[in-house]
Amino acid sequence: MNKGRLIVFSAPSGCGKGTMLEQILKDEKFCVSVSATTRSPREGEVNGVNYHFISRDEFEQRVSDGGFLEYAEYCGNLYGTPMKEVNEMLEKGMNVILEIEVQGAIKVMNKRPDALSIFIAPPSIAELRRRLHKRGTETEDVIEQRIAQASNEVALAAKYDYIIVNDALEDAVDDFFHVVRAEQLRSDKRPEIIADIIKNS
Ligand code: 5GP
Repeated sequence: MNKGRLIVFSAPSGCGKGTMLEQILKDEKFCVSVSATTRSPREGEVNGVNYHFISRDEFEQRVSDGGFLEYAEYCGNLYGTPMKEVNEMLEKGMNVILEIEVQGAIKVMNKRPDALSIFIAPPSIAELRRRLHKRGTETEDVIEQRIAQASNEVALAAKYDYIIVNDALEDAVDDFFHVVRAEQLRSDKRPEIIADIIKNS
């Protein structure tokens, strides 16, 4: 069986990453890796579904055991991608999406050059500000912090293989599937295809 593709998927807060993933995960060839974190669960979050919520001690133990493919600190909390689970899902042929921030994403790109990296960007910072205000879940201060963070993250978007601008959800999801499909058709990803074609002459 063909192995699945490891996909790094990053987006600043307010770029519609969650809604995009909801659509993408309707395709059963895709799954998202459940990270471990030291942050407390938010209302409605379920342990083992949204994250594995663990203590800082346990997190540090896993770091020294080499249990994470990458980990990073973000807003005072640690987040890490469990190596074993990701590898098992790839072996099963699943395309595994890592929904991670940029520092961790860059670590994965260096460690796993076979990973496909995709950055989801807002059409503009002004539009992102408008969306965050409309969502109304954050105070003015937090919105401005997130805008600053988003600008820093967008500045690193050129390190990713692809940038998808999420202006209209359907188009952004289509772009995602087109990118993955085009990657599957790359000649260097299908060494067997030429032999198969010639064999049937
Ligand atoms: P939140 O606390 O809002 O769920 O996530 C904060 C940030 O951490 C988001 O940008 C999210 O993509 C990122 N994140 C979640 N899991 C991981 C992980 O395993 N590794 C890294 N590097 N970032 C993560």
